Amino acid sequence: MYAVRRWSVRHAHGMEIFYQAFERVVVALHPLWRRIGYDRLEKPVAAVEKVVKGFLFDCQMCGQCALSSTGMSCSMNCPKTLRNGPCGGVRPNGHCEVKPDMRCVWVEAFEGSERMVEGKKAIRIVQIAVDRRLQGRSSWLKVARDKSQPIEVVKS
Ligand code: SF4
Repeated sequence: MYAVRRWSVRHAHGMEIFYQAFERVVVALHPLWRRIGYDRLEKPVAAVEKVVKGFLFDCQMCGQCALSSTGMSCSMNCPKTLRNGPCGGVRPNGHCEVKPDMRCVWVEAFEGSERMVEGKKAIRIVQIAVDRRLQGRSSWLKVARDKSQPIEVVKS
């Protein structure tokens, strides 16, 4: 919902603190998720994620969440689905050229990131393009899997 997602951006700092704690728990529980089976967990976890993040951020379930890097403003709400914005079409009032009644998702992202600690830096990191094969999948489980994997050091 538009009003709620704007509220989430205004409270980006609190969201950042909550998400960091939540992520630590999700990653720490990796052994449990693996025992249950990530494939078995995918559908129920994605369903919960869709409801929670749909309400707070108008999440589009892209499967590779970037909220903590975009000031808690979901870039998938950009009509051009820009992963690195804004485009050149932001109106003088900060609204979107495609949807003039809506504030530019990326203007919101930069404002939200200014309220964050890690987010302030993260928004300056260029995001990779959206992998459409992950559409509808749980980003929470992706983070649990990705962040629990030991980093492989390639010796030259
Ligand atoms: S103005 Fe903002 S929300 Fe609209 S298309 Fe451009 S980047 Fe996306």
